[in-house]
Amino acid sequence: MTQHFDLISIGGGSGGLATARRATRHGARAAVIESARLGGTCVNVGCVPKKVMWQASGAMEAIHRASDYGITSPAPVLDWPTLKSRRDAYIQRLNGIYQRNLDKDAVTLFRGHGRFIDAHTLEVGGERITAEHIVIATGGKPRWPDIPGAELGIDSDGFFALEQQPRRVAVVGAGYIAVELAGVLAGLGSDTTLAIRHQTPLRGFDAMLQQGLMDALPQGGVTVQPGFVPARLSGEPGALVLESADGQRMEGLDVVIWAIGRDANTDGLGLEAAGVTTDRWGNIPVDRWQQTNVQGIYALGDITGQMPLTPVAIAAGRRLSDRLFGGMPDRHLDYSNIPTVVFSHPPIGTVGLSEEEARAEYGNAVQAFTTTFVGMDYALSDEKVRTHMKLVTVGDEQHIVGAHVMGNGADEMLQGFAVAVRMGATKQDFDDTVAIHPTSAEEMVTMV
Ligand code: FAD
Ligand code: NDP
Repeated sequence: MTQHFDLISIGGGSGGLATARRATRHGARAAVIESARLGGTCVNVGCVPKKVMWQASGAMEAIHRASDYGITSPAPVLDWPTLKSRRDAYIQRLNGIYQRNLDKDAVTLFRGHGRFIDAHTLEVGGERITAEHIVIATGGKPRWPDIPGAELGIDSDGFFALEQQPRRVAVVGAGYIAVELAGVLAGLGSDTTLAIRHQTPLRGFDAMLQQGLMDALPQGGVTVQPGFVPARLSGEPGALVLESADGQRMEGLDVVIWAIGRDANTDGLGLEAAGVTTDRWGNIPVDRWQQTNVQGIYALGDITGQMPLTPVAIAAGRRLSDRLFGGMPDRHLDYSNIPTVVFSHPPIGTVGLSEEEARAEYGNAVQAFTTTFVGMDYALSDEKVRTHMKLVTVGDEQHIVGAHVMGNGADEMLQGFAVAVRMGATKQDFDDTVAIHPTSAEEMVTMV
């Protein structure tokens, strides 16, 4: 007999799991279909292994800098295979926790590739299942360049599969992943070049952050190669040659990592059978209720192309189930003022509008407050990595519409400021808040 559910999530990643679990908590019958490992991109080949690598890189930096305090030790040696196997074991434990959470919340898990038969019927592993509500949360996959020899490179999934530390690496791209992986590799001692097409990475971010990053990348050991449009990859590992469209060459590379964006994962989903349309980038457009063009079919997370971040997918999914099954008819995700961190060295934390975006929207009503300083982390060090901060305000009341930080601790600092921005804080509210001393964060409430 065909099993029927109130809700089925296609995809057992951040968004799909959150939606189904919240649905059962409201008393609905929910299922998840997952073709690979539970937890999706974030847990298996995204946020989690990336953060472990970032922390490893930070540990290496801390050892190097210990001598500033008169603490000496032999030069640190990284055993990459040990790091990888401990990281893999941690992720395996998380996969198990995800399975137990599904069991605890009575969510049915179907293992296999899900595809639409019609708007209310899915097929998985030869079985047909039906639901009133179907959620597409199939995430994204790394984009590869269409150039000769591209297959000689690897993507971010390939980075996490590396069994040995590459000696010489080129990371191609200018977004979150390129910046993060380049910083991690350089911090761990690989000779790393970041090849970017334009003059700075993270071009959508506030200009202060872009410039701050251009200064910090070389300090963190990353060579930045601007104006590099990849055109051809040749050779073999250890002797790869990466060439740009205007004839620049990088030789003797062990590994080339493509980090040029991600594409929506709709492969073999059978969207046409359900009548669900995609936009010209292949993403599934939704309205504010996460509803696709077909009644009863929703999409959320990376597949929508809207702020592809794990907490966004989770928040959208939980709100959808609250609305469908929790008696909260207006519940939906507000996509403005979503905070985000780039795990660069040092990290970047940002929420709201960049100064450039604010000026485009509010013109002369915008005022920006900035500060730059060397934090106490570097008090005894010959090396001085600067922290940069900016508050973007609008109007006579100086409502804060953007807060941007690059510096040690920015990753943990921003969450609280995001609450303040969301609550409509003004510059005066910040000024009236007593500082915590001595920290870097205190500069956020002492800017003039
Ligand atoms: P996913 O988590 O990708 O889940 C989709 C799932 O659907 C997958 O498990 C897939 O196997 C499954 N699937 C696909 N098609 C089918 C099908 N037809 N049938 C069955 N199953 C299917 N975000 C952050 O917030 N912070 C970070 O630090 C961060 N770091 C990242 C680092 C990297 C290297 C990458 C690649 C991403 C990172 N992200 C980060 C982004 C984050 O991972 C994604 O935004 C998040 O995973 C999206 O969740 P999702 O549910 O939309 O999709
Ligand atoms: P992004 O979209 O962030 O950046 C990719 C960049 O690569 C583009 O902006 C572009 O920059 C450059 N690029 C595009 N095509 C090419 C090309 N052919 N050759 C060279 N460069 C190219 O993608 P990512 O893959 O870095 O990350 C995907 C998403 O995952 C992010 O947007 C983010 O939402 C999420 N993520 C979040 C993280 C976090 O929260 N810390 C960490 C990692 C990922 P330009 O136009 O300047 O050349």
